[in-house]
Amino acid sequence: MTRQKKIYLEESEMPKQWYNLAPDLPNPMNPPLGPDGKPLTPEMLAPVFPMNLIEQEVSQERWIDIPEGIREILVQWRPSPLIRAYELEEALGTPAKIYYKNEGVSPAGSHKPNTAVAQAWYNKQFGIKKLTTETGAGQWGSALSYACAQLGGIECKVFMVRVSFDQKPFRKMMMQTWGGTCIASPSTETQAGRNILEKYPDTPGSLGIAISEAIEAAVTDPKGETRYSLGSVLNHVMLHQTIIGLEAKKQLAKAGIKKPDIVIGCCGGGSNFAGISFPFMYDKIHGEDIQVIGVEPYSCPTLTKAPFVYDHGDVAKMTPLLPMYSLGHSFIPAPIHAGGLRYHGMAPLVSAALRDGLMEAQAVHQSECFEAGLLFAKTEGIIPAPETTHAIASAIREAKKAKEEGKEKVILFNFSGHGLMDLVGYDKYMSGLLNDYEYPESEIQNNLKDLKGYPQPK
Ligand SMILES: *Cc1c(COP(=O)(O)O)cnc(C)c1O
Repeated sequence: MTRQKKIYLEESEMPKQWYNLAPDLPNPMNPPLGPDGKPLTPEMLAPVFPMNLIEQEVSQERWIDIPEGIREILVQWRPSPLIRAYELEEALGTPAKIYYKNEGVSPAGSHKPNTAVAQAWYNKQFGIKKLTTETGAGQWGSALSYACAQLGGIECKVFMVRVSFDQKPFRKMMMQTWGGTCIASPSTETQAGRNILEKYPDTPGSLGIAISEAIEAAVTDPKGETRYSLGSVLNHVMLHQTIIGLEAKKQLAKAGIKKPDIVIGCCGGGSNFAGISFPFMYDKIHGEDIQVIGVEPYSCPTLTKAPFVYDHGDVAKMTPLLPMYSLGHSFIPAPIHAGGLRYHGMAPLVSAALRDGLMEAQAVHQSECFEAGLLFAKTEGIIPAPETTHAIASAIREAKKAKEEGKEKVILFNFSGHGLMDLVGYDKYMSGLLNDYEYPESEIQNNLKDLKGYPQPK
């Protein structure tokens, strides 16, 4: 055996700083706006987030040190391996070299612990005793429960969307195993939850309702020792995920590759995509020729079909107005299996990157994704999360294009998570029960009516 499949870094080679894209954007970011339409002040966010994370949220520093206490926990699985997809390449007969960064090796099975550990650490430093959050399919709730367990002395309370709570018991069990509390949302514990239950006792719940409950539970703690935590979208979350791309850069260099030609990530709120791609956007801004592709489902076409607007991050309009591509906060997603990609908006930093031409966007259908997931599992061995199959489908498209063009391109994609908790989706696909669904243009226009009179970002 002469060929090297996996490229590892020593623990001592794990990056010591995160990369912040904000100061390098060709055009400055639009600020988040408060209810009065004026830019938000850090003080206004203080009941919701600890001040040390708010400072990161608004930071214009290019490089931000990763505290030793966070690095000590990250080495439980980091640096994550960079893997050459030889078997997939052979199956496709492509001259392209395909590499993937395996974030599925984390304890919770996805990239989400990268920011969960950092957020829990900063909250603990600030004297916070309890974190609240929401979770849809359960990926984020399990990541934050894991992180709180590693730090100790900080409780984790997760509001899980009712329908997933009932249908996906294993994620809930993971949270409980790590000592987190997981309750179905809407719950009777918050005013927001009680209001909904009174009107709709049988509601399946939604991410928007769960966010409202988690924020309420944080800001109403009479001792002021509880804060709220969000798993994607915000600037500090993008920042914490850049360790993925920074490691990948070092690993490609070890493999003798100066730069990838194409970098790909799937996009829900934008964090794993930002993680793999922002360090390469830095090179792109400095003149390198790198194609960066964000991939999303046709059923939730935020980057490919939505306008760049100011919109709320949640249905109940509790969050500030964020400058982002948005399908409208009242968007109701189709029940596709990539639960983590069903979000109406996109991270303001990723939105700014698209606006500024640093990346392009692609949409794919669910069936193409599962087909890619099956081919990947049969060739590379690992069963990918349904979200991750979007990145794989795009990598396969690009590898086929490279074959047609006869070009030996280097393709790098982020393997955001494994799919061992998502086998029901694969089962349905293999039983022929899945339909492709394209979100209709008329519905987008309908949802966007809610944004009438909102300020416009530049
Ligand atoms: C949550 C999740 C995503 C989508 O979230 P982003 O913030 O866009 O990264 C993608 N893949 C997996 C495995 C996830 O758990």
